[in-house]
Amino acid sequence: MHEQLVALKELFLSHRKFLITAHKSPDGDAVGSVSGLYFLLKNLGRSVEVVLPDPPAKNLEPFLQATDCRYFSEQPELVAERFRSADCFIGLDFNAVSRVGEMQTLVGNFSGTKVLIDHHTHPEDFADILISDVQCSSTCQLLYECFEIMALQLSISAEAACALYLGIMTDTGSFRFPSVNANTHRIVSSLIGCGLEPWKIHQAVFDHIRVDQLKLRGYAVSEKLTLLNQQPSNLPVGYIALTKEELQRFHYQSGDTEGLVNVILSIEGIKVGVLIQEKSDGVKMSFRSKDEIHVNTFARNYFNGGGHIYAAGGYSPDEIDVTIAKFVGLIPELFQD
Ligand code: 5GP
Ligand code: MN
Repeated sequence: MHEQLVALKELFLSHRKFLITAHKSPDGDAVGSVSGLYFLLKNLGRSVEVVLPDPPAKNLEPFLQATDCRYFSEQPELVAERFRSADCFIGLDFNAVSRVGEMQTLVGNFSGTKVLIDHHTHPEDFADILISDVQCSSTCQLLYECFEIMALQLSISAEAACALYLGIMTDTGSFRFPSVNANTHRIVSSLIGCGLEPWKIHQAVFDHIRVDQLKLRGYAVSEKLTLLNQQPSNLPVGYIALTKEELQRFHYQSGDTEGLVNVILSIEGIKVGVLIQEKSDGVKMSFRSKDEIHVNTFARNYFNGGGHIYAAGGYSPDEIDVTIAKFVGLIPELFQD
């Protein structure tokens, strides 16, 4: 067994007080891995607490209900107290401490054992135990694989199975990205054996769209989509930029534009899709690509971000118009080797 996993197993079998977290604006994999590991450790009889930098989208909240998760954005003092009383910190689904936002000081100052379990490229070297697999579809799949190798999979309850499925399902775009392999499906099969009913998770995540959310998506596609795959640009790139005013017009809530960037990528002839959104603290960029184009390098080099080869994010402190102009000017860089 990998020596990091030997150390992890020893840790999980010890009577530590565990504190689990994931990245800010938590997505399905962040929520699923946090909740999944909470149940796995609880089933081993451990003391576990969960914190997150901020809340996830409404449809993901039920997956955290049983964990008594607290958010740094809402209760910073209580979260700080949880850091003080824990003696083992486990970070999930992020590769850099900055991904926990303003909670990063608490992570940096944490004096107990630190563990990082993640599938993003370039994991930062800040943890005592690092489990990193950039080929893995999701942190949730990686967690299952770790438990299997550590021979702890007997502790996977139906609740844990549902949580792990949430992350695998969302990070693979419902099993359609190249990261899906036989092992992904084998693990799902095992999770079904643990009591998972997949359709319930799909329904919980995808069948709770508000009319405003649907209208925002319709507006974005019909009014705000710019395609550059025609003359004179002739580049396989499409982007949508939404101002704060436009988001507010449709009563934007966190998660409302989730997956919208994939719609751009699904257009015939498009290989790079970008969603640009004006938020209160700057401009959030979401990049998706296919074939030979690697958006994580682009996001890291020009937009303070990173992520996976074909799915990355970033941030610009500039005004939205300046950010769009900067992005358009840099597009040729996407096609350099
Ligand atoms: P999304 O576009 O869905 O927000 O993010 C796509 C991927 O890029 C996710 O895997 C996410 O973890 C990563 N990502 C998003 N924003 C950032 C960022 O600001 N920095 C880094 N390093 N990764 C990001
Ligand atoms: Mn993930």
